[in-house]
Amino acid sequence: MSNENKSILEFDMNLICEYYASVERQGPGSPEVTLKALSFIDTLSQESHITDLGCGTGGQTMVLAQHAPGKITGVDVFPTFIEQFNSNAGKLNLQPRVKGIVGSMDNLQFQQEELDLVWCEGAIYNIGFERGLSEWKEFLKTGGYVAVSEASWFTDERPAEIEKFWMDAYPGIDTITNKIEQVQKAGYIPVATFILPENCWTEHFYAPQVSAQEAFLRKHAGNKAAEDFIAYQRYEAQLYDQYKAFYGYVFYIGKKM
Ligand code: SAH
Repeated sequence: MSNENKSILEFDMNLICEYYASVERQGPGSPEVTLKALSFIDTLSQESHITDLGCGTGGQTMVLAQHAPGKITGVDVFPTFIEQFNSNAGKLNLQPRVKGIVGSMDNLQFQQEELDLVWCEGAIYNIGFERGLSEWKEFLKTGGYVAVSEASWFTDERPAEIEKFWMDAYPGIDTITNKIEQVQKAGYIPVATFILPENCWTEHFYAPQVSAQEAFLRKHAGNKAAEDFIAYQRYEAQLYDQYKAFYGYVFYIGKKM
């Protein structure tokens, strides 16, 4: 099977986890974009409780924590990411206000209406946009916010190669108009929507992976699965370069009605 025909879902989770733990971000984004999204949230205080779902090693959570008051709970399924998250929070003197816990976004342990803000950068796709928005709402107070970034189409039609790639990787990708409608249908007022600038992919996501890939290949020399995985990562980056006019990540901010 060529890598072009492979889906990320077919690679060994341990390899994926090890690779992504070696870079600061596990998805496209930037500190500027996190702060821009945060600028639409006007209800936070020292008493607030925020969760960052699919927090990874916490690149964006630490930015959030340095600019938002209240308590932040990061949630991720991978213990390796959470260990690194808590170590990063410790280094920045953000503990105990900022804490990472191992858990799944489809089985959250918060109380009903406990949260003021549900944050999720590049991770809601794990359970799907509509499902995530609808299930997380019960944990939000009325007037609380959801802020998520999600892969979206910029146009109604696109070249077959990129269409196929996304249909294999995440068929939930949709146009911005349809996503906004989904935000509204899930019971939120769509407060803001903006496209993440290109540097969230190039400078903050793909560029740090270049040296990480070389180190990873050296460490796993001769391991076919590792080589295939890196080839897939490179293919994905090349697709972005070629087809970035047609898709990208979009931040959607909604207020629970
Ligand atoms: N928010 C981070 C990571 C995005 S990558 C960033 O923007 O850099 C997607 C993350 O979702 C990974 O860290 C992955 O481990 C996590 N994840 C996957 N399935 C999950 C689930 N069911 N519950 C919580 N986290 C999950």
